[in-house]
Amino acid sequence: MLDSIRVRLTLWYTLVLALVLVFLAASTYFLYGRSLAQRTDSSIVELSQAFATTFRAELSDAPGTEAPKSAAREAMLEHRFRGTLFALLDSNGNVLESSLDLPPTPDVRIDHADELLDSIRDFASRANSDPASMRTLRGGRGGFRACARHIATSNGNYTLVALQSLHSQMESLEDIRDTFYWAIPIALVLASVGGYFLARQSLAPVAAMASQARTMGAANLHDRLAIKNSRDELGQLTLSFNQLLERLEASFEQQRRFVADASHELRTPVAILRGEAEVTLAREDRSPAEYRETLAILRDESQRLAHIVEDLFTLTRADAGQYPLNLREAYLDELAAQALVRALKPNLESDLPIIADEALLGRMLLNLLDNAIKYSPRDTAVELSCTRASNHYLIRVADQGQGITPDLQPRIFERFFRADKSRARVETETGGAGLGLSIALWIAEAHNGRLELTRSDANGSVFTVTLPAPRNRPAIDNS
Ligand code: ADP
Repeated sequence: MLDSIRVRLTLWYTLVLALVLVFLAASTYFLYGRSLAQRTDSSIVELSQAFATTFRAELSDAPGTEAPKSAAREAMLEHRFRGTLFALLDSNGNVLESSLDLPPTPDVRIDHADELLDSIRDFASRANSDPASMRTLRGGRGGFRACARHIATSNGNYTLVALQSLHSQMESLEDIRDTFYWAIPIALVLASVGGYFLARQSLAPVAAMASQARTMGAANLHDRLAIKNSRDELGQLTLSFNQLLERLEASFEQQRRFVADASHELRTPVAILRGEAEVTLAREDRSPAEYRETLAILRDESQRLAHIVEDLFTLTRADAGQYPLNLREAYLDELAAQALVRALKPNLESDLPIIADEALLGRMLLNLLDNAIKYSPRDTAVELSCTRASNHYLIRVADQGQGITPDLQPRIFERFFRADKSRARVETETGGAGLGLSIALWIAEAHNGRLELTRSDANGSVFTVTLPAPRNRPAIDNS
């Protein structure tokens, strides 16, 4: 179950939310409690002041030995609010009067009055040095907050201890705590259910992608995933997935066409081979000259076949990135000079060092020269020039043939493409399979260069190869 992103997301989310809520609840509880305590403290201090004032006033009105006791009683009756208690102690620490003897106010229920009186006495004796000191005393429900204050009068010195029951404060805090106890779990349950559905909703495209990817094969590569919102992350993922499918489909289609074209191209020479052999064998009384002629045709066709197979092999290995480039330091002008065959007007700058696979670069030059010769009249010249421009070499192969019509020019680098199939097929010599330029293009690119048809019209065609020239002359030593 934990393997599902949905569940993990929900659990993390709930855990983080739970931590936040607990932290918030705890700090609210703590801050509220503190503010309640501060309020209680200030109200009890005020109350003790008011009591002292009343006590003094009552005392001055009725002098006599019993006067402090009755003044204290008067003050207690006057200031007896909800949850408050007073005790007035004389300078010997004896309780002169306390509201514990009066009927209790609501909120104050004291089960052990003696213990409380003891604590009051103790507090009063310790608080002597301080004009108004505070302490929390045990007793009743929730205890009491106590404030001790000295009252100096002409009749003597007294200590007043005013108490405020903490019962209602405790109840408020308990209410808050109880609210948190049920509100937090409910919030977590709601949030986790909501979070789970949200996660499920958000991850639905991923699930759809996974199930589509499972059913995907060569037959339905053209299917695409629906994109709900192309701007969000999942939309982007779906888009990338669709683009991947597009590229796969394109390369699959390319491969399919390649195989179809290849088998078509191979079928023709094989048919010629078989046809020639069958025709020759059909009659028994053939002259040696006839057999020789047939054998020569068989040799030429099988050579052609071998050539096509070799080209195909080169291209498929190049496609798979498995054709090993045998890079060595060489001289381009020397390679070009080796490629010169016939009727050529060479213009080769000397001393053109390069790092290249000599065999492949030689093959590229031969393919271009071969085409230039094949597709131009016999008595015309084919030019080959190799020159150095600032940081690259330019190889130009120019002929004076009929050129390639503009509509076909973009297609000449396609595999198996031949501009004029019928003509090329007639002469075995010109009957390439339409792979020569594809291979030449790959070789140029494998050397980080380019191959372009720079001009082609009725006056002839010019193919240009651009190859990067080494910045520093390599010290050539191939010995
Ligand atoms: P092929 O084996 O047929 O020569 P290529 O890939 O070398 O295959 O060339 C593809 C086609 O491009 C050729 O069939 C030809 O029609 C055209 N082509 C290539 N080079 C030239 C050229 N120099 N002049 C005219 N057409 C050319």
